[in-house]
Amino acid sequence: PQTRDKAKAVGDHPPLRIISLYHRDMNIYGDSGNILSVTRRAELYGFRPMVRYYDPGDAWPERIDMILGGGGQDHGQERIIDDLRERGGLLRDLADQDVPMLMICGLYQLFGHYFETSDHERLEGVGILDVHTVAKPERMIGNLVEQAEDFGRVVGYENHSGLTYLGEGARPLGTVTEDGRGNNGKDHTEGARWKKVIGTYMHGSLLPKNPAITDFLIEGAADRRYGQGTFAQMKTAMDQRSRSELERLDSLADQAS
Ligand code: GLN
Repeated sequence: PQTRDKAKAVGDHPPLRIISLYHRDMNIYGDSGNILSVTRRAELYGFRPMVRYYDPGDAWPERIDMILGGGGQDHGQERIIDDLRERGGLLRDLADQDVPMLMICGLYQLFGHYFETSDHERLEGVGILDVHTVAKPERMIGNLVEQAEDFGRVVGYENHSGLTYLGEGARPLGTVTEDGRGNNGKDHTEGARWKKVIGTYMHGSLLPKNPAITDFLIEGAADRRYGQGTFAQMKTAMDQRSRSELERLDSLADQAS
């Protein structure tokens, strides 16, 4: 009850402040669907999601509960790299403080130590995930299906030239089981995790098809901001209409995977 009171104290619909990181340059193959999915589910649970689109040069938001980032072409990555370097310290602090983050493909690569492009240019990343990536001429394109320890079967679509290798400090998001190449086409790993940060090659959009990951992000954001157990309590307190809408979204996700 205490945590519910804490959430209640800020109004009936506690805000969740979500950043879409480099929305203009890093957002391809339907990645913006992830924002729609997070906001819709958060609303159904009774939160008030507030999305802020952050682009290079913008003022850094004061309060952040979750960060979503998408993929991009190499030139998109080059456009944001200076700003990312500047914001690296802030992002590392937030990751340290357990802010949930989802980084797809191009930003997944730049959340690692570096991405070496096909022109052998090295884009230094922020090093939140202990991975590095080197581009190879052959692109890896197609459906991607993996088994993730915490999320079960995860489905999506990959399109990248970079081969990503995990260091000791990162664990994979999942193991490629059916279709796809994953991090590097060799070790069957896909994606990387550290604290509440998830990096992955899964476009799709990922979240509409994989609600367990959406809920992981919302729960992490809500419990961090309003106290442990907030998400579970909001879920229990949902009205029937929201509950059936959530069931409908879950069954659509099931059909899509
Ligand atoms: N440019 C990067 C690569 O090709 C990322 C591509 C993407 O985000 N889809 O590996």
